[in-house]
Amino acid sequence: MQTSASRIQIPGQSLLRSRSRLKHVFPRRPESRSSLTTLTSTTAVHQNVISDFCAFERRVHMDMGAICLPWDFSAREEVPCDPVHTQTMSPLRMWILSASLLLWTLGAWGLSVDATAHKDASVLILGGGVAGVIAARTLHAKGITNFTIVEAKGELGGRMSSQSFGAPGKQITLELGANWVQGTQTGDGPANPIWTLAQKHGLHTHFNDWYGSISTYGATGPSDFVDEFNDSVDAYTNLTIAAGARVDKRLVDGTARTGYSLIGAKSQTAQAMASEYYQFDWEYAQTPEQSSWIASSWGNNFTYNTDVGGFGDDNQMALDQRGFKYLIQAEASEFLQPHQVRLNTTVKKIMYSNSGVEVELVSGETLHADYALCTFSLGVLQHDDVVFQPTLPDWKQEAVQSMVMATYTKIFLQFPEKFWFDTEMALYADSERGRYPVWQSLDHENFFPGSGIIFVTVTGDYSQRIEALPDSQVQEEVLGVMRAMFPNVTIPEPLAFHFPRWHSDPLFRGSYSNWPASFFSEHHENLRANVGERLWFAGEATSQKYFGFLHGAYFEGLDVGTSLAKCIQRGGCAGMQHVTEIQNPRPYQT
Ligand SMILES: Cc1cc2nc3c(=O)[nH]c(=O)nc-3n(C[C@H](O)[C@H](O)[C@H](O)COP(=O)(O)OP(=O)(O)OC[C@H]3O[C@@H](n4cnc5c(N)ncnc54)[C@H](O)[C@@H]3O)c2cc1C
Repeated sequence: MQTSASRIQIPGQSLLRSRSRLKHVFPRRPESRSSLTTLTSTTAVHQNVISDFCAFERRVHMDMGAICLPWDFSAREEVPCDPVHTQTMSPLRMWILSASLLLWTLGAWGLSVDATAHKDASVLILGGGVAGVIAARTLHAKGITNFTIVEAKGELGGRMSSQSFGAPGKQITLELGANWVQGTQTGDGPANPIWTLAQKHGLHTHFNDWYGSISTYGATGPSDFVDEFNDSVDAYTNLTIAAGARVDKRLVDGTARTGYSLIGAKSQTAQAMASEYYQFDWEYAQTPEQSSWIASSWGNNFTYNTDVGGFGDDNQMALDQRGFKYLIQAEASEFLQPHQVRLNTTVKKIMYSNSGVEVELVSGETLHADYALCTFSLGVLQHDDVVFQPTLPDWKQEAVQSMVMATYTKIFLQFPEKFWFDTEMALYADSERGRYPVWQSLDHENFFPGSGIIFVTVTGDYSQRIEALPDSQVQEEVLGVMRAMFPNVTIPEPLAFHFPRWHSDPLFRGSYSNWPASFFSEHHENLRANVGERLWFAGEATSQKYFGFLHGAYFEGLDVGTSLAKCIQRGGCAGMQHVTEIQNPRPYQT
């Protein structure tokens, strides 16, 4: 982290410690916490749906320990990476495996030759966000071109959503949705693919110093709570280490709040609560009570911690006046033909069978295809904004309803001139946890100097609360907090005020998914699995490793797109496995 002492500012207090200096330890793939040895007697696996191809491929993954790294979720068929499967092979097994691999390769080649017969299989890609565009690019790269992206909005990008904001003559394009490339690349280590796209398409970004350039405030103005803040940094690190230790011992998950309490981190003051919020809620958009202890830890580590294959702890803020979405639109323009995308086209109903799909639009028109890949957000699926016919099977519905769609709300204000802190960030400690806590100055030399723009972020239940209020009331509450933070300033009326209502938006129903403690790995497997042969799913929420992130959506578009292409090229398949009933390892005692 590029902590810079020169950014220290008073009033408020700059914080010198960088979260990234502290190393998180996560010695093994965390998902095994909920026994991703799902093929145990305690779990009823729907074996029949695993095609010979997939079953064979799973065996290859299982036998070849080297392929299946302890934390490698990206193995396409979600192969359990249990140590029992990663034993050393005998020469005989190696020979049999090599011969099998050769036969399979020839078979696959044969299938792909045969696949020309199926090359024209049609696919409807439902949703034109990152997952949808990358899935389309993947099909295109595999020679499958008979696809159509169906998107309700008038442009591609989904939750990469920008808008011009400000008084006439002082307008800036701001990001209402995704704003940061989170974790970029360290040395020649793995690169965040969003960062790769940003560089490829020349996107304007700037490093955002979350930990080295921050001022602190309380209800009566500037307030020094650097110590509480640094304690919260340490507590978060210890939380993830303790989660890793639980994974090692195969202990059950709990809430992150349970974790905090067990490591003795009990935030009791307003300052400690605000500091904890900055570490936790500001990332997951829900409270520690609402979040899985283990999944939130790996969610952090797989993106930021290079020890476990993460990209690094740099956060690059998109400032490009074409919008952050430009990178995915530019990527699409390299392969997408006009007839392969339908914008301003809203899906109402998805009818599926083992011979194809029909998609009914709000306009009344019906589209037909051999396959559909649904990339609508978890919130859309939960909310029944789109009707499935037949209704999704119980195992799918349980998965959809068990994960959570959290909300993250940026509230933008523009003033005639800047009157606030000179740091990039500020943290406000209110007696009510989560009340307008995180502030960011865009009127800063690194962002949009002279813009007069500042924004404050709220999350989770607080976001839902303000979405139900009129703008005028929210504005008044925000100005009230600013008066508390800056008691010596006469706060003028803002020139402009805006916040998006992600939770109420029928195209999203929230901002991004969050993993609650009651959500098991098998649930996640089911969230990702196709239903029948023809209805497939992808999106940030289906990413076990990077749920919530842009790069999660990217990897899912790539992985599920690859699986679907293989399926099409071999003339059909059963697809990914699912678990029909997720059972307790041991029955509850009554
Ligand atoms: C406020 C906010 C801040 C965020 N910050 C970051 C960040 O800084 N960094 C980061 O990595 N990630 C961030 N994210 C998360 C990131 O934006 C998402 O993970 C990612 O964009 C999801 O992409 P997707 O393709 O899975 O889904 P989406 O982008 O939701 O794509 C699905 C598409 O389906 C369309 N659709 C929905 N219903 C219908 C229908 N009935 N008919 C037709 N089309 C429909 C939608 O319009 C949408 O375009 C943020 C998200 C939000 C909202």
